Amino acid sequence: MASATEQISTENAPEHCPGPESQAAGQADACAGCPNQNICATAPKGPDPDIAFITQRMASVKHKILVLSGKGGVGKSSFTSQLAFALSHDEEVQVGVMDIDICGPSIPTIMGLENEQIHQSNSGWQPVFVQENLAVMSIGFMLPDKDDAVIWRGPKKNGLIKQFLRDVDWGELDYLLVDTPPGTSDEHLSVTTFLKESGIDGAVIITTPQEVALQDVRKEIDFCRKAKIPILGMVENMAGFVCPSCHGESIIFPPSTGGAAALAKELNIDLLGSIPLDPRVAKSCDMGVSFMDEHPDSPACTAYEAIIEKLLEKVG
Ligand code: SF4
Repeated sequence: MASATEQISTENAPEHCPGPESQAAGQADACAGCPNQNICATAPKGPDPDIAFITQRMASVKHKILVLSGKGGVGKSSFTSQLAFALSHDEEVQVGVMDIDICGPSIPTIMGLENEQIHQSNSGWQPVFVQENLAVMSIGFMLPDKDDAVIWRGPKKNGLIKQFLRDVDWGELDYLLVDTPPGTSDEHLSVTTFLKESGIDGAVIITTPQEVALQDVRKEIDFCRKAKIPILGMVENMAGFVCPSCHGESIIFPPSTGGAAALAKELNIDLLGSIPLDPRVAKSCDMGVSFMDEHPDSPACTAYEAIIEKLLEKVG
């Protein structure tokens, strides 16, 4: 049965709604004028009862890894998809990808699942399968048109992330990769709060070499430390360009302040590796296929392999 706070519609809640389950619900400054103020002020507070259901659901997931980036356009979702494809090479390994980039879900396209839809069964929402051991869940599957804009306030986004964690029937998974939106926003807070009891193995932070991207990575690292999420390491994407014809490498985005290596050293974080820019990565993503399968000879593929190996060593 839905709890009192669940029955509150937060669709028209103010932007800074503290959440109907929070102790400040109905009393915070943001609540002034909200149509739910009376209900929120009087509804029972305390730990979110759904956390127990999420923990129960997540008990069948061995490893949970967040993929984060300070900025958009640094190749975070490409990395998530390549990691998922690579892990699922082993038929014995079960992999799930949860795309919580609610306003810009690109995982369905990148993983070749455009126009797919999710279905419900008695055991919950069924994810969409790329292959038998690789399942995906994204809001992209729920949009009637891929060009539709998702304009949701925080509480509604939080509600969907909760449903993804509580209601999706992943089955037994070895790895659940959570592809997050750029920056640190409602989605990040929600997923870390809801998974607090289940445990998150850690976060991989994706960046590019320029200072403008690295500045935002500092905020991401600060967020992880405040939220007590272990940082598995940083990945520097688009570090140089590999010519697909001669395989020669040149620098496109000069690391004016030392790039990810200098930042990793300064902040005492592992740099898992640097991936050179290969235009065929973008092409593989557009076509929804695995770049590493298509171009195993590329230096970018070699870099991906080394990074994934290090990552798996860390996760154990
Ligand atoms: S929904 Fe509740 S908690 Fe959110 S702003 Fe309205 S009164 Fe406050």
